[in-house]
Amino acid sequence: MRQIALLGSTGSIGTQALDIVRQQSEKLGIYALSANNQVELLIQQAREFLPAVVVIANAFKYKQLKEGLKDLPIEVLAGEEAISQIVEADPIDIVLIAIVGYVGLKPTIHALKAGKTIALANKETLVLAGELITQLARKHRTTILPIDSEHSAIFQCLIGENPDTVEHLILTASGGPFRKYSLEQLKSVTKQKALKHPNWLMGNKITIDSATLMNKGFEVIEAKWLFGINPEQIQVLIHPQSIIHSMVQFKDTSIKAQLGLPDMHLPIQYALTYPERLNSNSNSLDFNKYNHLTFEKPDTICFHSLNLAFEAIRQGGNMPCILNAANEIVVNAFLQDKIKFLAMSTIIEKAMNSVAFVASPTYEDLAETDRTTRIITSEIMKQTK
Ligand code: MG
Repeated sequence: MRQIALLGSTGSIGTQALDIVRQQSEKLGIYALSANNQVELLIQQAREFLPAVVVIANAFKYKQLKEGLKDLPIEVLAGEEAISQIVEADPIDIVLIAIVGYVGLKPTIHALKAGKTIALANKETLVLAGELITQLARKHRTTILPIDSEHSAIFQCLIGENPDTVEHLILTASGGPFRKYSLEQLKSVTKQKALKHPNWLMGNKITIDSATLMNKGFEVIEAKWLFGINPEQIQVLIHPQSIIHSMVQFKDTSIKAQLGLPDMHLPIQYALTYPERLNSNSNSLDFNKYNHLTFEKPDTICFHSLNLAFEAIRQGGNMPCILNAANEIVVNAFLQDKIKFLAMSTIIEKAMNSVAFVASPTYEDLAETDRTTRIITSEIMKQTK
């Protein structure tokens, strides 16, 4: 029985991961659950999966959580520190990081130092601290299994292959809800429209990142660190049907691809049960329904965020951390109707030019970069209005 610590259990990935655990209950067990705020759902999940520990990040919700589980032998904790502590517990085999944003970094570091296998759904961790994280994984001889569908696809394509024979990675992208929009049309798009992703059902933050293509930019950075590949060897290809989840081209020109319906249950199950392939309750791909797969180049004039991500990883150091922090601020502001769609990339670019560059950042440098970038980005935002 593989014991899982599931961080971010009430979010989109978290609830789908619990579907998998429910289906594979002979192989997978839940040792710990954590959530940020949604205490009612967390209580319900804990009552069903009976973990040893549950943590609520928002300490104001502690009493309610404790009360809701008082008849069960479950340890109840609160606060972000507690999340980083619980991942170190001996019985845990695999830590699924499904927390969104910068806050995913610290528990990931703790889990790696404790030698746990990581199933990583939080892409920000590798974006802002890819070097640090991959070094830690090597030092503590642990594995990082990607849950992002594109990286799961590449991971699967690379099995049995010599990494030196890879020519390039082809990351596919749906193009989001505004594919084919002109700059003029993008000026007036609303939050409601941006939140309607054509293929994938995901949390709000990543859905906005998909609409700006920042999500794809983050995935380029993520791929660099996961697969040890130069950003110049990573191509982004728009594939609106999201059936090919990504591809690898080898030196002999052969291309391997991984295909499936756009359903996150597959990459989650693959990571949690790797290297096994188990049966699935998900629907399989029917080529009679998907008989027209198309491809196009990304429009980097309309979706400038993709350029910014390539620029950030080219510069390296703390630049991807600046990119990430500025992005978290602008996405939040867009979700609160404080700024327009196109202002997001403009403000991020200004932040990248304003925050002090650090070539080889330590964890403390990254924490400082994250903190300063948030302040500077908020300042830039006020001036931009
Ligand atoms: Mg993805």
